Amino acid sequence: MAIVLGAIADDFTGATDLANNLVRSGMRCLQVIGVPEQPLALDDIDAVVVALKSRSCPVTEAVEDSLAALDWLQGQGARQIFFKYCSTFDSTDKGNIGPVSEALMERLGAPQTVMAPAFPINGRTVYQGHLFVGDRLLNESGMQHHPLNPMHDADLVRVLSRQASRPVGLAARPVLAQGGEATRRHLDALREQGVGHVICDTLDAQDLAVIAAAVVDLSLVTGGSGLGQALPAQYRRQGWLAEVAEPGRLAPAAGSALVLSGSCSRATLGQVAHFLEHHPGHALDPLALAEGEDHVQAALAFARERLATGGPVLVYASADPARVQAAQAALGTERAGQLVEAALGRLARQLVAEGVGRLVVAGGETSGAVVSALGIRTLRIGDQIDPGVPWTQAPLADRGAPLSLALKSGNFGGPDFFTRAFEVLP
Ligand code: ADP
Repeated sequence: MAIVLGAIADDFTGATDLANNLVRSGMRCLQVIGVPEQPLALDDIDAVVVALKSRSCPVTEAVEDSLAALDWLQGQGARQIFFKYCSTFDSTDKGNIGPVSEALMERLGAPQTVMAPAFPINGRTVYQGHLFVGDRLLNESGMQHHPLNPMHDADLVRVLSRQASRPVGLAARPVLAQGGEATRRHLDALREQGVGHVICDTLDAQDLAVIAAAVVDLSLVTGGSGLGQALPAQYRRQGWLAEVAEPGRLAPAAGSALVLSGSCSRATLGQVAHFLEHHPGHALDPLALAEGEDHVQAALAFARERLATGGPVLVYASADPARVQAAQAALGTERAGQLVEAALGRLARQLVAEGVGRLVVAGGETSGAVVSALGIRTLRIGDQIDPGVPWTQAPLADRGAPLSLALKSGNFGGPDFFTRAFEVLP
């Protein structure tokens, strides 16, 4: 059976964010890490999100990877392609949003696409083409200090015009206020004038619904995960998508419960402290990891003993800023991070091989290290634990039941995330 939506996301957590919203709007969703080399079983899947690392890499690489993802998704019969980027339009004058969009349009033979980055419930709105984060313009939101893609201009028509070769236009709020049909006519008129990219104003969920209604026939749409939340209703209206009772339903979880944390964000530090009030945990110290094997072996022994009764148990390198700085001063920032990521990756591999079946990982980079240590290539997306963080399931070659996995980037999740995650897992 062909999939309805094929999405190309420019980073891993952005992919999960979109996939989570698609499930919440009724699509059965698979996230794949990189472009798959093997054919996948997609019988009960409505949407596939390919997670790339194309946000900040050189333009040529971003274009090449995105086109490879497009070819693969078209091979799965996707009716619509969605290029997903950050709701703060993370990019530079070189790209990658403009060049990737144009390469996808070219390959699809699409004369026009839309740009709808807004995610109103998270405070990202667009008015008269200007992107706001809460009540601040993008260029006063803190994003002007971003280390990789500082955003110095909130006018997205201007921002995209610097990256794109085709003319950029605007679908402004007064047009959206007239509904989906009127917005579609506006897009048509712009297309006749040669406008290839249309920035969409968005103040609220109603605007996203209007945009979704106007663009459901386009072969390519682009934007943030907010648009992803609005599209499935249109797919159902078109008769492309059946009503599914539990799109986030996963196989029953089996195996003991482990939390691995390499995030030092304030939210994670609170979650670690909360967990330790109720369950056992073991701290990893990068300085001790640099000394040799013993430190990892001690953590393994600690975890094994508690996992024998099912867990949950926590192993964490998470530390307050003073301790992180001390480790970084002694080892170098990169080496400190690598030691922690390698240790948590090894613990994951070993303990999953020994029977862990429910795994929560905290930290964006840490999640990448654990997923790659486990050799995971696909994640079936389940129900949300906290906003933006779903349970997922990954098939593992040498394991009968799939591994239940929750990957939480730094600032996500309430204070009781580590304990509640296991309580809400069926
Ligand atoms: P977040 O999502 O909170 O940014 P990440 O996992 O992306 O978390 O990044 C945290 C980084 O800090 C990782 O590279 C991790 O290995 C490193 N790290 C974790 N604990 C320590 C520590 N105690 N000292 C130094 N670096 C650490």
